Amino acid sequence: MKVTFLGTGTSQGIPVIGSSHPVCLSTNSKDKRLRVSVLIEWSHYTYVIDCGPDFRQQMLRANCDKIDGIIFTHEHADHTAGLDDIRPFFFRQGDIPIHAHGRVLGELERRFDYIFETENKYPGAPNVIKHAIKNEAFTLGNLAVMPINGMHYKLQVFGFRFGDFAYLTDMKTIAEEELLKLKGLKVLVLNALREDEHISHFNLNEALELISVLQPERAYLTHISHLLGFHDDVQQKLPENVFLAYDNLQITI
Ligand SMILES: [Zn+2]
Ligand SMILES: [Zn+2]
Repeated sequence: MKVTFLGTGTSQGIPVIGSSHPVCLSTNSKDKRLRVSVLIEWSHYTYVIDCGPDFRQQMLRANCDKIDGIIFTHEHADHTAGLDDIRPFFFRQGDIPIHAHGRVLGELERRFDYIFETENKYPGAPNVIKHAIKNEAFTLGNLAVMPINGMHYKLQVFGFRFGDFAYLTDMKTIAEEELLKLKGLKVLVLNALREDEHISHFNLNEALELISVLQPERAYLTHISHLLGFHDDVQQKLPENVFLAYDNLQITI
């Protein structure tokens, strides 16, 4: 399985528009972060987790010419606002499967009503096939995927385990019984916003604590704010098996 980090930034991305913060002005490409998303490829399958406002640019940058579907963690705009840009995939492939909690599917229908329109639909609008995810294993391609239920302050979010790989973002708390699903991982991806506490995201310490409880072979941090600091400085402070993810990073599991 190959995982490409399409974006590793928090909701505003880095640089933040109009910001003169040193991290926003950094010339290191690892300090430039699009909104958070990953491309997951195995056998001949290609899936994307989340479809934020940078989706078009991310698909171009990754040379992605086919997707088998999109899986959504939750409905926040930094994870969903790019849905219209599935059009090139729809024109080539036909209806695009989307997988999300029923509540998130409802939100997408409300925000992108023209995509879900069934009568007098504009011919240029894309079609999707809705798949509701419950907190139980579901199948993508030839693989069983296990949702991990978490809380983003008061909003439910799903993380996902694909074999020995798990991807969690926008989490602040995870119940004990859900943590049991994350034992024995080779790679864990986890959100870590900044050093200061945040009401709806793990900060760096909370992410590192969870990593030390779960003991994956390797962990990668994502959904990063410019306030966390320069990539190279933060990386030096991390434990040996923990890495700050950056855009275009590819890992093999
Ligand atoms: Zn987010
Ligand atoms: Zn969010």
